[in-house]
Amino acid sequence: MTTKGHCLCGAVSYAFEGAPTWTCYCHCESCRRNCAAPVTAFLGLYATQFRWTGAQPASYESTPGIRRLFCSTCGTPMAFDADHYPGDVHLYIATLENPSTIAPTEHVHFEERLPWFSTDDDMSRVDGSSETHTELRKNHKIQD
Ligand SMILES: [Zn+2]
Ligand SMILES: [Zn+2]
Repeated sequence: MTTKGHCLCGAVSYAFEGAPTWTCYCHCESCRRNCAAPVTAFLGLYATQFRWTGAQPASYESTPGIRRLFCSTCGTPMAFDADHYPGDVHLYIATLENPSTIAPTEHVHFEERLPWFSTDDDMSRVDGSSETHTELRKNHKIQD
C-alpha cells in the first residue's frame, strides 16, 4: 500500500510503501519551536520505504547532526533527519494526505512538555527518546 503526504502549498510531496515502523508524540522543545505547536506527532519509516515525489525540501541543521527538512516555498516542516538514526526517516503525521489513518502510540521527551498541555490517553510516557524506537532499530540491525 502506498501512503502519500504533502506540504501546505503542495510543492514538496512524498510517498512511502507499507506501514510505519513507529509513531509518537514528541514533546521536545526543538520540535515545539520547529513546528510552532505545543506538541507534534511523528511516524518513522525505513529510508528504503520512502521517496520524495515533488520538490526537494530545504534543510536546517537545528543541532549538529540533526536536520529539519521543510518546504522552502510555504515553510511547512516535512521531516526530521538525524545522523544518530541512519536509515530512518521521520515524517510529521500532520503532513499525510489523510492524517486520521495513522495515530501516535507513545509520548517521548515527556519531561519537556508544556505544563498546561494534557492528553487523556493511556499511552506510555518516556523522558528522552523512545525505548520502542531504540529496540526496533536494534532488532532490525540498522547500523549507527
Ligand atoms: Zn510548500
Ligand atoms: Zn522532538
